Amino acid sequence: MQFVRYTNGGGPEWGVRLDEEIVPLSGLREDVSYQQLTDPGFLQVVENAVDAASSHAIPVGDVRFLAPVPRPGKIICVGLNYHDHAEEQDEEVPERPLLFGKSPSSVTNPGDPIVHPDDLEEVDYEVELGVVIGRTAKNVSAEEARDYVAGYTAINDVSGRDAQFDDGQFFRGKSYDTFAPMGPTLVPDDRLDPANLDVACHVNGETKQSSNTEEFIFDVPAVVEYISGFTTLRPGDVISTGTPGGVGIFREPPELLKPGDTVDVEIEGIGTLNNPIVAESEI
Ligand code: MG
Repeated sequence: MQFVRYTNGGGPEWGVRLDEEIVPLSGLREDVSYQQLTDPGFLQVVENAVDAASSHAIPVGDVRFLAPVPRPGKIICVGLNYHDHAEEQDEEVPERPLLFGKSPSSVTNPGDPIVHPDDLEEVDYEVELGVVIGRTAKNVSAEEARDYVAGYTAINDVSGRDAQFDDGQFFRGKSYDTFAPMGPTLVPDDRLDPANLDVACHVNGETKQSSNTEEFIFDVPAVVEYISGFTTLRPGDVISTGTPGGVGIFREPPELLKPGDTVDVEIEGIGTLNNPIVAESEI
């Protein structure tokens, strides 16, 4: 079941995507929330409502998809979390998750431009599985971690490598406005196995990254356990779980994003997130 946030001219709405149609959820008695997505009873209500309302479905082409978490409380990213990405950098497998922050205001919608800043030369792509927190989590064990997860989305962890490497820490390079495209759907934890999903990134239609989340060094439960062991996770927080090998900066020669390119980030069961690269001076 793929939840979507979208607009068809008015304010943002929630719906469920069925192939090439969206069933609006505006008639539900209770609002869609990240907390509700952790409740199997609510998901059943939604399934019944979708069956009943399928005659009100809207063609996908009539809506504009919006990021499912437009204002995350925080975005915590995991670095070096795929075996193949550690190998391409000749890095040892880390003993614990390597974490960094990405500004919540870097989120942008499916289809909207990724703005290539004039002061950066090395803008790169990273397909990542995004974990959306649904319940307040502190000191949660790996065994119970998924009870706290609302669901999963796709994130492009766009990265300004020159800023990242020049600063010696990640925050600026990861946090330029529009550097966190997110979507196009949010799939409840109950309906997706995050440990076995194909992930890919294509630039101008050419495949640059192709892997599977079974390559994770730290899986979703381990990451939630680790993070909730030192900070409180709240509904609407997002964890971006790291990227596989094939990023532009470690290609020989490097292949970085330039204005005019389009990037597709694709995750099995979630869909394809497509964004054009536009120069800051063109905005
Ligand atoms: Mg990343």
